[in-house]
Amino acid sequence: MKQNYSIFTLVRNALNYHQDWQEAWRSPAPKPEYDVIVIGGGGHGLATAYYLAKEHGITNVAVLEKGWLGGGNTGRNTTIVRSNYLWDESAHLYEHSLKLFEGLTQDLNYNVMFSQRGLMNLAHTQHDMQALRRRVYAIQLNGIDSEILTPEQIKEMVPILDCSATARYPIMGASLQRRGGVARHDAVAWGFARKADERGVDILQNTEVTGFRIENGVVKGVETTRGPIGAKKVGIVVAGHSGVLAGMAGFRLPVESHPLQALVSEPIKPILNTVVMSPQVHVYVSQSDKGELVLGAGIDAYTSYAQVGSPFIIENQLNALTDLFPCFGRLRMLRQWGGIVDTCPDASPIIGKTPVENLFINCGWGTGGFKATPGSGNVFAHTIARGEPHPLAVPFALDRFTSGYLIDEHGAAGVAH
Ligand SMILES: Cc1cc2nc3c(=O)[nH]c(=O)nc-3n(C[C@H](O)[C@H](O)[C@H](O)COP(=O)(O)OP(=O)(O)OC[C@H]3O[C@@H](n4cnc5c(N)ncnc54)[C@H](O)[C@@H]3O)c2cc1C
Repeated sequence: MKQNYSIFTLVRNALNYHQDWQEAWRSPAPKPEYDVIVIGGGGHGLATAYYLAKEHGITNVAVLEKGWLGGGNTGRNTTIVRSNYLWDESAHLYEHSLKLFEGLTQDLNYNVMFSQRGLMNLAHTQHDMQALRRRVYAIQLNGIDSEILTPEQIKEMVPILDCSATARYPIMGASLQRRGGVARHDAVAWGFARKADERGVDILQNTEVTGFRIENGVVKGVETTRGPIGAKKVGIVVAGHSGVLAGMAGFRLPVESHPLQALVSEPIKPILNTVVMSPQVHVYVSQSDKGELVLGAGIDAYTSYAQVGSPFIIENQLNALTDLFPCFGRLRMLRQWGGIVDTCPDASPIIGKTPVENLFINCGWGTGGFKATPGSGNVFAHTIARGEPHPLAVPFALDRFTSGYLIDEHGAAGVAH
């Protein structure tokens, strides 16, 4: 049993000069076989393992990660959490995740620093306003909080935003989801890892999957850099490398892998207490608890597996930032990085079965999967455990690309994060 993290544990360990902290998770040797292998030790994979153990009693599970936990997109994203999606299917899935986020710190006994500081989408044209109204009303019909703000209300919430009529991109209104916000991305991965390990899940870092053992169309296990490991069921949750893993298993996915960049400024005193997104000029910004401005924009247009992007994307987003917030013009940027996101033609994820029996896939979250981490793990665990999709996952099956029932969220959210 793990020590409960609490003020008492902190005091007790402080008295022992912090010598007796338990390891957060074990590093066991791989067993010859597991009931379920989850490939990918990002937030989604770890959440899948946790819910398999917690909700389905399946504890003979291994998570195989080629690098370190959260070293993929989980530790590289800009941490935005929201559920204001246009289409019913997406709204229900992301709202399921947001609700899990609301209790995650308590559930995992790990502070994921979920801060519901609100998330604002700016509108700069009449067209933007029409699309925004349509979205807000659709979201409200799904019982999800969403409201429209006037420029005066926006100015009151974010005084440093240039709301003047002479601004290059005048602000005509905004949508606001008050329950949206940010969370600490590494903590989400570590919290799931710690609790999954507590329930008996083996977390195997530095273990890359290099192939599948498939007999008569049924998956029997995986080949790894630490030797073959058998499994009754396998789930692929590798974000930007989904196409690579699908290729190893002999099928193709309708995904493209693109670089997506982010950057942070030097830390400054608290100045921005909500998330501001502008789909039109294309930048979004929040302020981290350390004081850094966390900035993001869109993908690089080319496909690549390199975790870097082009400087002009950064230049454009900084231009957009200083148009909206002239006072940020004197800030220095501290660091910049990239991740690889796998995007589907309809900007919605794929969750469910594959052409190989007992091999399941969860991918295609593109630029916006961090917010889905608990919900995605929850519905994917159900799908693997029962061998049938969770009701919320049914519309996201791979066969929608043959049936034509696409869930086109491309323009729906304005920005895709
Ligand atoms: C710059 C950036 C900003 C973003 N901003 C946001 C945001 O603000 N809000 C939001 O909701 N989403 C955002 N996203 C998207 C979000 O980060 C992802 O959708 C989400 O983190 C995907 O989680 P994951 O656990 O599937 O992926 P990852 O964390 O990438 O986990 C997949 C893991 O699989 C491992 N792996 C790959 N191949 C193998 C193999 N062969 N064997 C074993 N392991 C393997 C990788 O090493 C990796 O650790 C952003 C992404 C980026 C890059």
